[in-house]
Amino acid sequence: MKRPRKPKERDIVLKNIQAVAQVLSAEGLNPDVSEGAELAVIGVLGKLEPDQAERLTHHIATMPGVESVKRVSTPYKLVSREYRSETTTIPVNGVSVGSAQLLVIAGPCAVESTEQLERTALAVKEYGAKALRAGAYKPRTSPYSHQGLGEAGLILLGDLRRRCGLPIVTEVTRIDQLPLLLDKADVLQVGMRNMDNYELLRALSRIRKPVLLKRNVAATTDQFLHAAEYVARGNPHIILCLRGILGIQGLETRAQADLDAIPLLKQKTHLPVIFDPSHAAGRADLVAPLSLAAIAAGADGLIIEVHPDPANAISDNEQQLTFEQFGALMQGVKAVAAAVGRTV
Ligand code: PEP
Ligand code: MN
Repeated sequence: MKRPRKPKERDIVLKNIQAVAQVLSAEGLNPDVSEGAELAVIGVLGKLEPDQAERLTHHIATMPGVESVKRVSTPYKLVSREYRSETTTIPVNGVSVGSAQLLVIAGPCAVESTEQLERTALAVKEYGAKALRAGAYKPRTSPYSHQGLGEAGLILLGDLRRRCGLPIVTEVTRIDQLPLLLDKADVLQVGMRNMDNYELLRALSRIRKPVLLKRNVAATTDQFLHAAEYVARGNPHIILCLRGILGIQGLETRAQADLDAIPLLKQKTHLPVIFDPSHAAGRADLVAPLSLAAIAAGADGLIIEVHPDPANAISDNEQQLTFEQFGALMQGVKAVAAAVGRTV
């Protein structure tokens, strides 16, 4: 449905939307109205009898204001481009993620101390990062590796947020962490290991804060979008994050950078897509070139690990950048962004 420009037109369009919604409700269906800048989309989920679908399609197509009636053929609905053709934008600290402006999130792998967070926040903010990342709950491959500071780490993040003015991106691993996380953090990250944790995804569909959903190393893009669909059933604020997938064993990188999935996902979904070169490469020297490639391929932002002293970091010490390396990377990101019509 075309969106109105003048107040009177707006009344007419609202009436048109209501009329379509009433027809759907009368059939026992649940219409879901979402208004974009140009069009209003009225979505209907669920199974319809074939003749009912046919009848409704014809009826609604002839109603006033209706531009077209489409059947969404993808198995995921709400997150598909077929459902919504305009890219969704998600506000994070003045950046509309998904617009021409890129979001750069930077910070240490794990929360270690107030000093570590504070120094990193000041440095990355200075170089243009718009959000701070740091994990308080750390799902690690080995049970003998550092498992994160947990609640104590979240409290440090919450204190820092007030002082440094950067929003906090941090990982959620269990539903019972949500009350404290919602209080202390701004964007909740679902790590690649939890992409298939459907109970957690369902719980995140009930919150109002943005969710940064990472692709599992062994998931197809369709499986990734199904995971996003769980969240989208109640919470439209989803940022997809690619972080490398399983490649040939014995390669010199931690994962294989799934840069092809950036343009692929952009065809399939209206959700913004960012890239994590740190976990894809697993080594600091490849983080900058992969970042530039991701921006050139159309990514809406980056999430990068930065630490005051990477060699002595408590986790992921081979892939974290020094402040200077991050500063140099941001110069390159700005240049490539300008070349592809984006800003940082
Ligand atoms: C992280 O970002 O800290 C992390 C653990 O990433 P991933 O889930 O992609 O391995
Ligand atoms: Mn890490």
